[in-house]
Amino acid sequence: MVIEKDIQTGHQEATEPLPYLGRSVRIVGDWRSVDATQTPHEKNKRGELGKPLHNWYFNRTSPDPLGRIATASTSADRRNAFETVLARAPRGAVNPERAPAPDPAVLTAHIKRVAKYLGASDVGIMRVQPQFLYSGGRYPDDGTAAGPSAPPATAESTAKRYPYAIALIYAWDYDMGRAHRHRIGDVAYHFGAEHLRTTYANLASYIREMGYSTAARVATSMPVALAAGLGEIGRHGMLITEHFGARVHLGDPILTDMPLLPDRPIDIGVTDFCQVCKKCANTCPTNSITTGGKQVVNGVEKFKINWETCYRLRPHVMDYWDICLTCVTVCPYTKPDVWWRTVAVKAIKWTPIPLRGLVTRPLKWIDDVFWGKLGRKRVRFMSYDSGRLKLPDGTELSSEDQGHYYPLKENSRRFDILKTKLKAKG
Ligand code: SF4
Ligand code: SF4
Repeated sequence: MVIEKDIQTGHQEATEPLPYLGRSVRIVGDWRSVDATQTPHEKNKRGELGKPLHNWYFNRTSPDPLGRIATASTSADRRNAFETVLARAPRGAVNPERAPAPDPAVLTAHIKRVAKYLGASDVGIMRVQPQFLYSGGRYPDDGTAAGPSAPPATAESTAKRYPYAIALIYAWDYDMGRAHRHRIGDVAYHFGAEHLRTTYANLASYIREMGYSTAARVATSMPVALAAGLGEIGRHGMLITEHFGARVHLGDPILTDMPLLPDRPIDIGVTDFCQVCKKCANTCPTNSITTGGKQVVNGVEKFKINWETCYRLRPHVMDYWDICLTCVTVCPYTKPDVWWRTVAVKAIKWTPIPLRGLVTRPLKWIDDVFWGKLGRKRVRFMSYDSGRLKLPDGTELSSEDQGHYYPLKENSRRFDILKTKLKAKG
């Protein structure tokens, strides 16, 4: 707690210190809660992003049965998508006989063990401050403010009532994810999200059965994940984790009044690597990722991606695939969780910050040589083959090069860079 004093009136007020979110983002100004009604999907649902995107959101159906059960938004009948069933399930009551609370450290270790048993790839805990919660009337999601006499909950009152947030991640399949811009990558992505939703629901039920309250759909997942030490934010605007890189879902953190021990943000050298790498920016098909420096947005200094150009791609490609994920796939941190990857990440992590350039450049070079600048990889999964392109009319093209990136080729920035280099050579 920090005591601030107004030098003119002498009035003193206790305020929370600005949260520390690690080196990849810095709170430099007045960081305010995100208005839940102004997020991309919410704007799109209201039709504010135009008809094509609105139709993409509400009226698309996946051409294959696996895609139709993977997520409600691509289903033919929403009840066939498990996420619909889960979202409609009523929440259970809190057990009035609270389990005796041992030391918070013991409770924290226990909850983390349970979360991993239930399927989370990693777990982090942070202490809630109002800026981590949405503004815009989503409070609370537990029915306690219902009724004519109940005062409307605010971010401040919710943060007081639920002082801790538990953030989980789930890593989708590495090999399937390499078939990005393809139905195979879509399946890995969507079923990963479904797995995480189920894990969150089970963990929240477990906490209620232990006699503690939970709230959901109120916290912004990225800052919570950073504060909870699950990773750092990359140039591509995604969370980069130590073991799985950027191929992770964050989902919706659980808020609780269970007394827990918060984690600390981590440093795995993402900021240092992003300075030299720029692979995501150079391969993004919509040029939505900057090759420049960080900017200040809503009081937070970070790499700013143009979410709107990224989002607007979707209706143009929905006959071929659903989710792009090129930036996630090409990111050098997104590699299988094996020994040589551990060595590479530890090498950056353990190198003193001023000397990290000496490590990141050779590692980037190794990544380009062994994994390629574009990360093209033919993936086969069940009857799918990312090297074969199936057109919407059913025609199959079997050329080796079709399919991986169809209908988009490398982005225009790569061609511009190439042209500049050729010109410079004369
Ligand atoms: S998902 Fe695709 S279009 Fe969007 S930022 Fe990443 S690479 Fe670019
Ligand atoms: S691809 Fe490179 S620049 Fe982009 S987020 Fe990953 S490490 Fe950073």
